[in-house]
Amino acid sequence: CGVFGVIGTSEAANFVALGLHALQHRGQEAGGIVTHHAEQGFNSIRRFGYIRDSFTKQSVMDKLPGDLAIGHVRYSTSGSKGNTQIRDVQPFFGEFSMGGAAIAHNGNITNADALRRELVERGSIFQSSSDSECIIHLMARSLQRDIPERMKDALRRVEGAFSVVAMTRTKLIGVRDPLGVRPLVLGRVGDGYALSSETCALDIIGAELIREIEPGEMVVITPEGVSSHFPFERVAGRFCIFEHVYFSRPDSIIGGRSVYETRRQIGVELAREAPVEADIVVPIPDSGTPAAVGYAAESGLPFALGITRNQYMGRTFIEPTEQIRNMGVRLKLNVNRALVQGKRVILVDDSVVRGTTSRKIKEMVLDAGAAEVHFRIASPPTSWPCFYGVDTPERDKLLAATMTEDEMRGYLGVDSLRFISLNGLYRAVGEAGGRDAAHPQYCDACFSGDYPVRPSDMLARGFEL
Ligand code: 5GP
Ligand code: SF4
Ligand code: MG
Repeated sequence: CGVFGVIGTSEAANFVALGLHALQHRGQEAGGIVTHHAEQGFNSIRRFGYIRDSFTKQSVMDKLPGDLAIGHVRYSTSGSKGNTQIRDVQPFFGEFSMGGAAIAHNGNITNADALRRELVERGSIFQSSSDSECIIHLMARSLQRDIPERMKDALRRVEGAFSVVAMTRTKLIGVRDPLGVRPLVLGRVGDGYALSSETCALDIIGAELIREIEPGEMVVITPEGVSSHFPFERVAGRFCIFEHVYFSRPDSIIGGRSVYETRRQIGVELAREAPVEADIVVPIPDSGTPAAVGYAAESGLPFALGITRNQYMGRTFIEPTEQIRNMGVRLKLNVNRALVQGKRVILVDDSVVRGTTSRKIKEMVLDAGAAEVHFRIASPPTSWPCFYGVDTPERDKLLAATMTEDEMRGYLGVDSLRFISLNGLYRAVGEAGGRDAAHPQYCDACFSGDYPVRPSDMLARGFEL
């Protein structure tokens, strides 16, 4: 998901709509915006579909007045896929004795089942099926006198990954979980401030990046300034390494590094680790493109845009059903026959999850007359599900969980298949010494099975580590 908020600018909702539009890659299912206006109070609109379709009409934006606003773009994870109701769409709103508050959450709460059970037993009435709604109910039960303090109380009970953007009548609030698994940045826009999942959304509104919110930090922002709090026990961060590989936009900056440059560097590492004799390097667009640029540069082989992407399709992976996903690849990607015919082709992609994409593309490239197909993947084999807000299928649907690399090569029907090593990936994101096995610098659970937060709900449901 993507979260965005602004305070201290007129037309706050327009800024939020633009910010969410720049974060659309983080969730395409639905979006919502809540605003607050001194006389008109809170207003909220939540809709299915793209921001550009839901939040551009003047008649819609006129219903969202005020100089304080937050918003959310939704990316559903497996539990609710395909049957999301509008009541599951964020931001969520709560009315407390000291006034209202709205929250938008990116991440996934790993003890949400247990919290929900407890809250329902004690009288909470849930409106949605979303894990994020727990935060509102925990806030309602807190005895603290102000909303930021109630949020601290609530979030101390929550486990898992959360980057939260919230608002009261007068304040914009941002929080990251103690490990800082999901991103959140702070920017300056005119005389006001902005919070955003990624820096690319600050760029679109002309905001200047101030800094990242730190793991475990809460910022409480008024037009006058930012106050910083650390409500949790402080531990070393474990940012999601897959944000670098795939999830974030390449024009965003994470930890002072360009995401594009990191991805290009992954390609360089991959070419060193897994060279192969071939004629051209072809990216699987768009997610494989920066790594393919790096691979080509390091290997000295020509780079060719041998696959064209239809820009009007969404991300294949986010389509709800297997059937649509299967069709999706062909609807979205087409091979440029003139470039690949008779060639030994290295295809570079960011990840192999179910293998659906890779299998289809290999067929298409061979149909177009390629002599050989070699796959090079910019992440290690995805063999574990993510429980922290990135959608991955159950373990038995992950190709790498059920097959060895050689079996995967056979299944995909390619001449060779190589993944970057976990250490190679760490080097590419800037850890010169690779992964510190005793204290890993990142979350890499989907590759290593080393879950930095115990996935307690999933364990209770029978998931085995
Ligand atoms: P597959 O077809 O192997 O199941 O999916 C791999 C493709 O899905 C890759 O091209 C990758 O770019 C794309 N993808 C989209 N969303 C995600 C995601 O959340 N996780 C992973 N690992 N890949 C994703
Ligand atoms: Fe990111 Fe993978 Fe960790 Fe999920 S499991 S937070 S995708 S590194
Ligand atoms: Mg892709």
